[in-house]
Amino acid sequence: MSNECLSCGACCAFFRVSFYWAEADDAGGAVPVELTEPVTPFLRCMGGTNQRQSRCVALQGEPGKNVSCAIYHQRPSPCREFTRSGENGITEEACNRARAHYGLPPLYGTDLLSLTIHSAATDRPSRVQLPPD
Ligand code: SF4
Ligand code: SF4
Repeated sequence: MSNECLSCGACCAFFRVSFYWAEADDAGGAVPVELTEPVTPFLRCMGGTNQRQSRCVALQGEPGKNVSCAIYHQRPSPCREFTRSGENGITEEACNRARAHYGLPPLYGTDLLSLTIHSAATDRPSRVQLPPD
């Protein structure tokens, strides 16, 4: 985690963190299955993230203060692929949106329209997304 992320953690307590079920360690993957929840026959999510007030069970600490991931080296693909705003000089709207939820300023760029029209309980950007309801 970058220094900015170690004092943030907002994305770990905002999005649903869903991924292909075989990323769990009962199917050959790395993610401890006991920390996950089934979503569909093909998808699992990090425990605690499939609810309105999302918070991953592996998140330690308090968002916006000091945080760490208890399974950093075993975290699922959406976590490994999530990009901090400003990383590579690019504005990442999802990072900014999660931070805004906790009253934290964007690290890079601003997208005021997106910050106001989105709400929580949306999927964390991932290669694996649920189909629309
Ligand atoms: S919301 Fe952005 S800054 Fe905060 S932990 Fe996630 S990637 Fe890092
Ligand atoms: S597994 Fe770790 S990086 Fe992923 S959402 Fe949970 S606390 Fe955050």
